[in-house]
Amino acid sequence: MTRVEPLTSPSAYLDWNATAPLLPAARAAMVAALETGGNPSAVHRHGRAARRILEDARAAVAAAFGAAPKEIVFTSGATEANNLALKGLAGAVSKIFVSAIEHPSVLEAARHGGPPVEVVPVTAEGAVDLTALAAQLAATGGKALIAVMAANNETGVIQPVAEIVALARAHGALVHCDAVQIAGKAPLSFADLGGDTLALSAHKMGGPTGIGALLVREDTPLAAQLHGGGQERRRRAGTENVAGIAGFGAAAAMIATLQSEMIRIAALRDALEDTLLKEVPDGVVFGRGAARLANTSAFALPGVKADLQVVALDLEGVAVSAGAACSSGKVARSHVLDAMGAGALADNAIRISLGWATRDSDIEAFLSAYLKIANRRVRASEPERRAAAGVS
Ligand code: PMP
Repeated sequence: MTRVEPLTSPSAYLDWNATAPLLPAARAAMVAALETGGNPSAVHRHGRAARRILEDARAAVAAAFGAAPKEIVFTSGATEANNLALKGLAGAVSKIFVSAIEHPSVLEAARHGGPPVEVVPVTAEGAVDLTALAAQLAATGGKALIAVMAANNETGVIQPVAEIVALARAHGALVHCDAVQIAGKAPLSFADLGGDTLALSAHKMGGPTGIGALLVREDTPLAAQLHGGGQERRRRAGTENVAGIAGFGAAAAMIATLQSEMIRIAALRDALEDTLLKEVPDGVVFGRGAARLANTSAFALPGVKADLQVVALDLEGVAVSAGAACSSGKVARSHVLDAMGAGALADNAIRISLGWATRDSDIEAFLSAYLKIANRRVRASEPERRAAAGVS
């Protein structure tokens, strides 16, 4: 697949879980949609042309993710999709369960939803603790909503969503799934997965930022959060972002090609981790024993703060992120690694995430820059170690 500027212009772009480069097909679809113009709700030919673009993209997203076109509600991204699900279902439930490792757009939306929120713990490997969830559900009277992600954005750990849906069904609970990170990296079918609502974001799979979708099962008691016109089957008012949706549709149409690259990417990621653990024997890969996305590695370099690692790598032209970069650009301690019991290592972890355009040379650039940082760390602590050992 062709490499795309400019996200690949540093010597190595390894922050695909933050955003993936725009696919040329998505860019072309967006330009065509912008040139077409028109309001999809208008009755005349310009409106009908925009409507056709919108519905073609809806069909492409539906086909890519095992959904019916009428189940798709386009939103401004997954943050809005998660807010729509958590707040829109809040009126139908008396409790909301969220896993401890959800994205802030789920955790914060749940807190603003109304019903009491209960956090479901995760195991040390970073997967939702099913035994704990079963006990929590058994102790709950009334209807509940469970929000669980398909795969974690920091560790890549794949969550037991099918098992959670089965547990939920046994207790009459609703399930919302944030599937942002799994899309394009592993098979995803709304029909097969079950659950009631599912959030997607285009920019994690080669589409543009600022567009996503909430997939909603037909009879789900979802209350709209934006009121106005009757767009999106009255579930999300406002003139649709036609160009963004066109780009999303074009990326969705390529989902099988993107996924097929993941076999190569898994081998690259595994080799990267093997080298890291060999060269940095006290380093830690989080969730290594769990089922994980092929492209993600969360690695702790003990003794070096994550933000310093990110800046030092950036100076070498290598782009990664710290466990959790909040919107201000500052690095906050990762609630995901905290929930996994990582302790002080949570401050030392970076996330390396690969994608379909990642080459061997990107990994080599990362390793050569990163091992310099790791080796400097050993040298810096040498006098202290010698002093501690009584050697002058
Ligand atoms: N959920 C997860 C798991 C994510 O990784 C992200 C993006 N960081 C979001 C939700 C939010 O998506 P968006 O950028 O489309 O608002």
